[in-house]
Amino acid sequence: MRWGDMRESQNVEDRTGMGGGGGGGFPLGGGMRMGFGSLIVLVIVGLIFGINPLEMLGLMGGGGGVVQQAPPQTAPPGYGPQTAPPSKATPPAPPTPEKTLSRKVLGDTEDVWTALFKAMGTRYEPPTLVLFTRQVRSACGLASAASGPFYCSADSKLYLDTAFFDELSRRFGAPGDFAQAYVIAHEVGHHVQKQLGIMNRMESLQGRVSKAEYNQASVRLELQADCFAGVWGHYANNERLLDPGDLEEGLAAASAVGDDRLQKQAQGYVVPESFTHGSSAQRTRWFKRGMETGQISSCNTFESNVL
Ligand SMILES: [Zn+2]
Repeated sequence: MRWGDMRESQNVEDRTGMGGGGGGGFPLGGGMRMGFGSLIVLVIVGLIFGINPLEMLGLMGGGGGVVQQAPPQTAPPGYGPQTAPPSKATPPAPPTPEKTLSRKVLGDTEDVWTALFKAMGTRYEPPTLVLFTRQVRSACGLASAASGPFYCSADSKLYLDTAFFDELSRRFGAPGDFAQAYVIAHEVGHHVQKQLGIMNRMESLQGRVSKAEYNQASVRLELQADCFAGVWGHYANNERLLDPGDLEEGLAAASAVGDDRLQKQAQGYVVPESFTHGSSAQRTRWFKRGMETGQISSCNTFESNVL
């Protein structure tokens, strides 16, 4: 991919090198203002199976990607872990090729989605990409790098530890810069879904449908994000930013993070009803469809009989 020719996005918060929770921007649980005891519903979606970062903290609610988050308990002064105030003097870790690629791919997604939204007569509000190392605090909670890249709808930010790119290459067998670009474009796809009001519909399902039905909706949401990643790829290709072999790299990445492949790797067998992201074949198919058509309307996974 000729990412050297892409425009760098300014909507990047570099919290790498800041240690745990970096940045200290958000009080955990933006719902506090809604009154004590109220629950807030946040949508958090990621690239890979079992990504829900809040699961690790035991904050996970009922099903899928929607999290019911209770207000945090505040320990009286002198109790509980003492957190040092975020040091403003800590500079972010130096630039790396992965960070530069992330900024440039994000910049290119901004240009493509701005144009597509404009054509629909609306405005695209670009998301912010937060680069972090090890763990990060988001409006959806505290997440560790182990959870993989994710999008938090409550703060409209994408979270990425670029060490995931190594993992994509080594553990998932999907190397290459276009594979990395797919990861970012997929999370941007979730932001597009938020802008189109699709995330809201997902939130409204929470608690009203069975877990199996919710998982089904989650698969459709994820496959649509894959298709939207493909839509971006279509225009990157039109701009002659892709090299031969890039499409294959992207498809390999989409296939590598299919639920069936990941489940087989993790537990040795596959349970289709528990899929939340779609199989390798489905993810590849929808990414490819977006790449081929470049049309938002071709990504209507919610009304497609065949996934
Ligand atoms: Zn996702």
